[in-house]
Amino acid sequence: MIILKIGGSVITNKSQENTFKKQTMDRLSKEIKRSGKKIILVHGAGSFGHITAKKYGLQNGFQEAEQIRGFSLTHKAVQKLNSYVIESLYNQDIPAISLPPHSMLRLNNHMLKTFEFEIFNMYLKRGFFPVTFGDVVLDDTLGISICSGDLLVLSLVKYFKPEKAIFVTDEDGLYTKNPKINSDAELINSITENELENLTTDADSHDDVTEGMKGKIDTIKNISKCGIDTILLNGNKQGRLYNVLVGEDDTYTIVHGGRA
Ligand code: ADP
Repeated sequence: MIILKIGGSVITNKSQENTFKKQTMDRLSKEIKRSGKKIILVHGAGSFGHITAKKYGLQNGFQEAEQIRGFSLTHKAVQKLNSYVIESLYNQDIPAISLPPHSMLRLNNHMLKTFEFEIFNMYLKRGFFPVTFGDVVLDDTLGISICSGDLLVLSLVKYFKPEKAIFVTDEDGLYTKNPKINSDAELINSITENELENLTTDADSHDDVTEGMKGKIDTIKNISKCGIDTILLNGNKQGRLYNVLVGEDDTYTIVHGGRA
């Protein structure tokens, strides 16, 4: 089984609220279908969640009544993006089922407290294609918080120990520096968990409430510590997701899992 994360940077336009890149998602759905792989899909919120979540300061926990409105609005937006993703998968005859985090997990001070993992397993066993996504959630200490798609990937990896984790973004993989702001950034083809320790990167202008690539690097370090390989690839390039899903060569970054 594979844990696949499709980032908000690929299926939304991050700088413009609520813009879904349908053509890209439809192509990725076709590549998923063609691969025939058993997958749990996680998708990011992109411009459907981050802009409202930031406006209402949801990442900092409950501070004022107006945030309740912001929480609800953010959820409405990410649920809408999720419905577009589900529809795209469904149109390829993939039996997608939506598992919204707000109703099946709780955080405690941004860290995972409870998660009904077994529901994923039960749907998988019955031949469904479980789909979850970055969402607003309850937090035992902060009242309310955000659960990023990347935290979901890490949590699912720890529980399911998949054959690999894949992050689909709008870049060819992991670079030595942020490629959007450094023209001398070089693509890393292959890296170990130890080497990853020395890599830091600069934030983007459309900075996510969940820290963008900086946070992703930390997540990937933790995935590596479970002994699982992580692959980062460009979802805007045709065929790359399919090739990685079926184990064929292409352009991507592989982060080799350390000893579990
Ligand atoms: P997503 O929302 O799709 O999960 P993020 O926006 O969190 O993705 O991360 C992808 C973005 O990270 C890329 O669009 C790129 O601009 C930025 N980035 C920053 N540093 C790096 C790096 N070292 N390598 C690759 N991308 C990077």
